[in-house]
Amino acid sequence: PAHLLATLQDAPKIRVIVRKRPLNKKETERGENDVLECDAPASTLFVNEPKVKVDLTKYTERHAFRFDDVFDERVDNSQLYEQAVQPLVGTIFRGGKGTCFAYGQTGSGKTYTMSPLPLRAAGDIFGIMAQPAFEGLALHVSCYEIYGGKVFDLLNGRKKLDVREDGRKRVQVVGLREVLVGSLPVLQQLTDHAAAARSTGSTGANDESSRSHSILCFALRTTTEPVKTVGKLSFIDLAGSERGADTYDNDKQTRLEGAEINKSLLALKECIRALDADARHIPFRGSKLTEVLRDSFVGKNARTVMIANVSPNSGSCEHTLNTLRYADRVK
Ligand code: ADP
Ligand code: MG
Repeated sequence: PAHLLATLQDAPKIRVIVRKRPLNKKETERGENDVLECDAPASTLFVNEPKVKVDLTKYTERHAFRFDDVFDERVDNSQLYEQAVQPLVGTIFRGGKGTCFAYGQTGSGKTYTMSPLPLRAAGDIFGIMAQPAFEGLALHVSCYEIYGGKVFDLLNGRKKLDVREDGRKRVQVVGLREVLVGSLPVLQQLTDHAAAARSTGSTGANDESSRSHSILCFALRTTTEPVKTVGKLSFIDLAGSERGADTYDNDKQTRLEGAEINKSLLALKECIRALDADARHIPFRGSKLTEVLRDSFVGKNARTVMIANVSPNSGSCEHTLNTLRYADRVK
């Protein structure tokens, strides 16, 4: 990738993409059908919602949503990377900040989408760093999780970290471990380690990881004193969007977590909207998530990609519509 940067466009300020996963075996066996239709050239996604009238006659209500891009189940992770995330690599070398979010209900493909992205991005970053024009730079990585409004270091035994405001009114995660990465195998080890530290449960409705936001952050810094941060690139695998509705659960802990998730997803939407509108005030104080991310995604050189993941099965229709409405209001 000798002239990779030259070929990389700067990313648009806010980009909202929807990604549909394929119908799986279980869903097919249950007799569920695919209710989503992607019209990629028109960047439109149709939802054919099955409904039943009071007199029990069945009908379909068709909804249409337009985004910057819609990816159907034939789009693989490398195509998704190239189209959605690669432009953010150019952004960080131009002194900007790039952030990529995966939003959606549990089981919609957020982790499937997000987990390979940092490694691919690092491959491109190393390619650019190898060029003489970009000598004297180093890539650092940190990984943490926000669970119930508290921050845990995924590269340091899931240590609980404090969030404090420094003298310049900047919110900081105190003592977050940051590791210098010089190669892809080293990064792979670190991300595997972080993924294992994150998910205490297995995949499924009670998966603990569905209640936490997981964040991987790259910082591109100069190697000589005074050390300067050239750019930042962050990947956020958000808590399952349906968890925000757990606020009526019988269990108090679940209820509190649900309230926190609801608050953070709403605050995130408000912040991205404000960024999109070039508002002078960005309401990042609305939640722990937006507070700790402030430094990574607020600023005039900030670029954001929101990937809304959706499940195609009829049984997920309501959650899918909620996800699409959320994504629709981000911009
Ligand atoms: P989430 O993180 O949103 O809860 P996952 O990423 O764990 O969802 O995805 C749920 C399941 O669906 C996993 O078994 C995953 O491998 C599969 N899956 C998700 N997206 C795709 C896709 N685009 N193609 C094939 N399988 C997928
Ligand atoms: Mg997941």
